[in-house]
Amino acid sequence: MRIRTALVHGGQDYDPLTGAIGVPIYQSSTFRQEAVGKHKGYEYARTANPTRTALERLIAELEEGEVGLAFSSGMAALSTAFMLFSTGDQILVGEDVYGGTYRVLTACFSRLGLKSSFVDTTDPAAVAAAFTPQTKALLVESPSNPLLRVSDLAALAELCHARGAMLIVDNTFLTPYWQKPLTLGADLVLHSATKYLGGHSDLVAGLAVAREKEVGERLRFLQNAIGAVPGPQDAWLLLRGLRTLALRMEAHEANARAVAAWLAGHRRVVSVHYPGLPTHPQHALAARQAGGFGGMVSFDVGDAALAEAVAARTRIFLLAESLGGVESLICLPARMTHASLPPERRKALGISDSLLRLSVGIEDVEDLLEDLEQALEQ
Ligand SMILES: *Cc1c(COP(=O)(O)O)cnc(C)c1O
Repeated sequence: MRIRTALVHGGQDYDPLTGAIGVPIYQSSTFRQEAVGKHKGYEYARTANPTRTALERLIAELEEGEVGLAFSSGMAALSTAFMLFSTGDQILVGEDVYGGTYRVLTACFSRLGLKSSFVDTTDPAAVAAAFTPQTKALLVESPSNPLLRVSDLAALAELCHARGAMLIVDNTFLTPYWQKPLTLGADLVLHSATKYLGGHSDLVAGLAVAREKEVGERLRFLQNAIGAVPGPQDAWLLLRGLRTLALRMEAHEANARAVAAWLAGHRRVVSVHYPGLPTHPQHALAARQAGGFGGMVSFDVGDAALAEAVAARTRIFLLAESLGGVESLICLPARMTHASLPPERRKALGISDSLLRLSVGIEDVEDLLEDLEQALEQ
């Protein structure tokens, strides 16, 4: 099945009892056994629930991996994956990873003796130099947040495998519709399904897909042992959101391209970050390793007060954290999504106080441009 078909038909066996087209919400924590140990594959819903199983099969199919697993949030998926490692191990992490990932590694897993070290993953030589004998994995987001930097996933996979380490990719920004890291050599893909996969800003969930069965089964053991699983309602909402992922991702991208090009020509805009712009430093790499450039755009207006004013004046772009829903959002990373990073660290990463981030939605693009125009010109 190709991906548009898989999004509609994948992961499910139509309900054997009634033929229902939608996967039923099995709102049950336990399942009756005919005799001790004789059951239909379901015993207790932390271990497995049929609604969640349909979702887990679907994401495995979409990412072209062996084992798909669902979690109660993106952070639950990431944290469960970090439990694959032990005291004394080291994980290399992209220097501009999601703030919550940085926080859980530096404030929680560090106390258990799991070391993390932050590197510029757009520079394979810097990554190679950061490896130590204790390095067990590299975690990358591409494109990254909020500056949309692109890392060469195939090159990084090769580099990791040559040193006996795993490549883990947080694929939240592009989704398997545009980018399939496992096909580029990654070992594990993680998602905040709260974002594009759910797509409607109505749920919090995480997903993981392992390329090989062995890693997948180790993670499945941890999923059950730790228990950060989504309930059947959220699994169902996510299955429903995924059915229109192709349409949404195409619409996000078309609007984001138009918004990025328009911003690049605006007199008050100092710089625009969007991998789809030919001026983006990794435009060719982005075009090579992914089918699209996604719906996230960031831009700098060169003045913190102006940035704050723009964020307050937009009407269609709602001022909010998060991303990936059908509605357009605007945020000021330095004061919102990235406020937990120390100012020196933000500065080193290039996240200025005058940088604005857009999650471009699927509205009429003319309305989006008019909204930005009035906010910038007022
Ligand atoms: C939001 C996000 C997360 C965390 O996911 P939650 O669902 O909020 O727990 C992780 N990685 C990226 C790239 C994100 O955008």
